Amino acid sequence: MKLLVLDLDGTLWDHEDASRLVPPFLVGSDGEGVVDAYGEELVLFPGVRDFLEWAKERFLLSVASWNLEEFVRPILEALGLWDYFVFPKIEGHPDKASMIERTLLDLKAAGYTVDGVIYVDDRTIHVDEVVNAIPDLKFIHMWTDVKSFEELKKMLEVL
Ligand SMILES: [Mg+2]
Repeated sequence: MKLLVLDLDGTLWDHEDASRLVPPFLVGSDGEGVVDAYGEELVLFPGVRDFLEWAKERFLLSVASWNLEEFVRPILEALGLWDYFVFPKIEGHPDKASMIERTLLDLKAAGYTVDGVIYVDDRTIHVDEVVNAIPDLKFIHMWTDVKSFEELKKMLEVL
């Protein structure tokens, strides 16, 4: 199976720094976002939940996010998304290459065979490092290479 690594801020949801949100989190009535203790909102982009449901049958799903897990895991849990991901990395630095490499090592140690890595992010700042570290990785620039999760699905279908 291929590993599909997703960024969070600006990729899965509209907030640019989810670590800034303060618990407790209230899930909106449509289940598509949370409101924090101060009324600040974080909303999933359209189609995320359907996309993850589709993708979990086809890929190993993981996360590489520059955030703090202690703050952001509760948001993923509140939205019911945490369990989609294997060995997610949510860490207080932007070294995505290191995060993805360690997820690969964790998967290998757990007995998974990974035959390719796809990485989806709304920003390209660390892509060179990631591609250098994992040569056969395929990068998809969210909102540029694809404009929606429906388009992302279509692109992944032909990879
Ligand atoms: Mg981002």
